Amino acid sequence: MSTHTHTVIIGAGFSGLAAARILKQHGRPFILLEARDRLGGRTYTRRFEDGKYVDLGGQWIGPTQDRMYALARENGVEWYPTYNQGENILDLNNRIRSYTGLIPRMDLPSLINIDQVLRRLESMAKSIPLDSPWKASKARAWDSISLATFVRKNCFTRNCYKVVRAGLETVYACELNEVSLLHALFYIRSGTSLNTLLSIENGAQQHRIKGGMQHLAEKIGEPFQEETRLNHVVNKIITTSEGMLVEGHGFSITAKNVILALPPSVVRDIRFEPGLPLFKTQALDKLSMGIVGKVIGVYETPFWRAYGFSGQVVADDHGPFQTLFDSSPADGSYGVLLAFCIANRARNFFAKPEVERQVLALEWFSKYFGEQAANALKYIDYSWATDAWSRGCYAGIYPTGAWTNFRGALAKSTGQIYWAGTETSDVWYGYIEGAVRAGERAALETIRQSS
Ligand SMILES: Cc1cc2nc3c(=O)[nH]c(=O)nc-3n(C[C@H](O)[C@H](O)[C@H](O)COP(=O)(O)OP(=O)(O)OC[C@H]3O[C@@H](n4cnc5c(N)ncnc54)[C@H](O)[C@@H]3O)c2cc1C
Repeated sequence: MSTHTHTVIIGAGFSGLAAARILKQHGRPFILLEARDRLGGRTYTRRFEDGKYVDLGGQWIGPTQDRMYALARENGVEWYPTYNQGENILDLNNRIRSYTGLIPRMDLPSLINIDQVLRRLESMAKSIPLDSPWKASKARAWDSISLATFVRKNCFTRNCYKVVRAGLETVYACELNEVSLLHALFYIRSGTSLNTLLSIENGAQQHRIKGGMQHLAEKIGEPFQEETRLNHVVNKIITTSEGMLVEGHGFSITAKNVILALPPSVVRDIRFEPGLPLFKTQALDKLSMGIVGKVIGVYETPFWRAYGFSGQVVADDHGPFQTLFDSSPADGSYGVLLAFCIANRARNFFAKPEVERQVLALEWFSKYFGEQAANALKYIDYSWATDAWSRGCYAGIYPTGAWTNFRGALAKSTGQIYWAGTETSDVWYGYIEGAVRAGERAALETIRQSS
């Protein structure tokens, strides 16, 4: 079927939805195409028949993510504080130690060293210009080495290395040798500070959305249901003398503009005629996605709270998970333990059959929180690296050399194609907030261009 509109938006994650909301408000005709049978993209709330739900994708928001709070308010969607009371656990060298507050119980030289490393990253990140990281005075040097090289050079004790590594892998969702130091610093600055990225209180993990993050995506999408087409996979974008032609199985749409709100990993599956400019193509090819699996146990109650535990764990690499959190709903009417399984740990864990994964995960949960943790009502895990429409998470990662060689190529418009998606945002790159800001920016670009 052939249709005509002013703008085609491809991808109904938060970025595409934010773009559609702006076009709707400005009375611009558009069609929003989405490959999946649902809205939300890398946010995904799995709902069960008994009314319980778990967030398998992006779930937290925090201070300075102003667009997210504004959208929640506008749509009458409530948020609540992440549970953050009681003792945390550090699983280090096969010893489980609990502690309260921010400072784990471990040897003093390692604690001092951890503080030094984090402060150093924090201070280096301050020199990164957000709109042009490649212009930082030390950009070339920092883009020539990986975050792993920096961390190894600056961690003087084994324990410091192990704890810093688990924390940073949770932030970047990759092995530290897969990310350029320059990108790591840009990412810190983009999300305000390293302390913000690592924290619950006053940090990126401060709040959850009641009903799950996908609920907010659906509320944002309500005013333009008629313009939204689910199960529409775009596989070809052709620039003709009359405008843009967007094609997929059983449909073709002509339009003046296209907004692409996709992760770089899946843009590569679309055929562009003529091909995209060299810088854009190469930048898209260079970015790899992080690899994260969420591993979840659902329980009758958040029983660990009664024993004085927060549900938070940081673990070195003898176990399958870097970090754990209490991910229960606002009213605590049931308990959800959430583990992050990242990078090589995810590659190993998700190579096992599901039954084995479940046994292994619940064994580790029990190790931390006792026998009760073995009796989950439900076990769910989800690997984003094998999800056809994301192929990884949380976001695209710049390896060494990519920022300085390709600079801002990813976000630059190409003819009548405007580029959105969290990977094109200067602020809160990789986060839902970044996705929203990028979608709004791209929509406004199309409006400015046609007025
Ligand atoms: C496990 C996990 C935990 C995370 N935790 C957080 C968190 O707590 N807080 C936070 O802020 N961020 C978090 N993130 C990151 C956050 O979810 C993403 O940054 C954000 O959702 C990206 O939105 P987007 O719209 O840019 O891209 P996406 O959400 O990926 O949207 C792209 C859309 O395009 C669709 N699509 C793909 N190919 C095609 C095609 N050919 N044709 C049509 N449609 C197509 C996809 O189906 C998808 O719906 C997390 C991500 C994951 C996976």
